[in-house]
Amino acid sequence: MKFNETLNDITLYEAGKPIELVVREFGIDPSKVVKLASNENPLGTAPSVTKILSENATKAHLYPDDSMHELKESLAKKYSVNPKEIIIGAGSDQVLEFISRSLLSQNDTVLMSKVTFAMYEVYAKQVGAKIVRTPSFIHKVDEFITYYKEHKPKIVYLCIPNNPIGDCLTKKEVFEIIDTIDSDTLVVVDCAYMEYASYKSNDYLITPKDTLKYDNVIYLGTFSKAYGLGGMRVGYGIARSEIIEQIAKMRPPFNISSLSLAAAIEALKADEFLKDSLKLHSEQIVRYEEFAKINGIEYIDSYTNFITYMLDDIYNSSIIADALLKQGVIIRNLASYGLNAIRITIGTAKQNDRFFEAIQPLLKR
Ligand SMILES: *Cc1c(COP(=O)(O)O)cnc(C)c1O
Repeated sequence: MKFNETLNDITLYEAGKPIELVVREFGIDPSKVVKLASNENPLGTAPSVTKILSENATKAHLYPDDSMHELKESLAKKYSVNPKEIIIGAGSDQVLEFISRSLLSQNDTVLMSKVTFAMYEVYAKQVGAKIVRTPSFIHKVDEFITYYKEHKPKIVYLCIPNNPIGDCLTKKEVFEIIDTIDSDTLVVVDCAYMEYASYKSNDYLITPKDTLKYDNVIYLGTFSKAYGLGGMRVGYGIARSEIIEQIAKMRPPFNISSLSLAAAIEALKADEFLKDSLKLHSEQIVRYEEFAKINGIEYIDSYTNFITYMLDDIYNSSIIADALLKQGVIIRNLASYGLNAIRITIGTAKQNDRFFEAIQPLLKR
């Protein structure tokens, strides 16, 4: 069988390892496994959301509201935008897929940072587009501007803040890049961790109101991280209605389940849960910074719910990740991104204790 040639160039996305795998492979009690690999909310999901989920279980036989009226209204209110300017995806991942399928043809070019969210590349390659990367592994304004001018890409991906590194451009820097880009290039501003960045400093707060001033920018947000709904698969894109109308042509009907819609709508009301999540995170990430300093590990100042430890030549990220895994601590090895680094999602105090306990014996004194 001959498959589409664009597939030859695509490597399968390596997702964070599930708890079940560690239980199966190392026979560890599931309650002892600590998963700090996928940037999920360690507090789980807001109790009000769990309640709505069980209430909606009796409606499983009904198709969801394909217009997603209520969720769009709630998001429109939250961001002071028009519901026509919103598209909902099964995770913001699916919105990324709609974007590349509606804009890119074979041999078009897209621009992104050297190390960034892996799915930008996958969705672009699926439609035969070429990938251009800036030289630095963090986002640099001058590099984006130079590379944009040189390659005139169809899409520029800005991951604000950047996964899997944790770096973040300020609002001012992001718009410095956007201001140099012509309106026939779409700028994707992926704000999956915006809640964490703006909690840390207001200089990093970007809203859809800001990006809607431009006719060639789309803002992406997700319920998977700060809102604690990774398993529900709900994300969104916000842009001028002319853009939304076009990319919506790629959306399959009923792409969001009725349970997921109900959960997302309720999650937007759970202000206290969001506040608690951000507060816990800001208290706990300091422990990771201190641990790194004490142990001579270099880390990237993080604007996300994870921290990246750069292991330089002292340690090997694959060895460290495997040794932690055997102790039931799942973190992310960044070797597949070409980095000798590990990415750890900030957990609860107890989960973080487990991480420090497990890694300490692996470090030289
Ligand atoms: C997690 C993440 C997403 C999207 O996740 P979904 O669960 O598909 O909404 C998008 N971009 C970045 C950078 C992410 O880390």
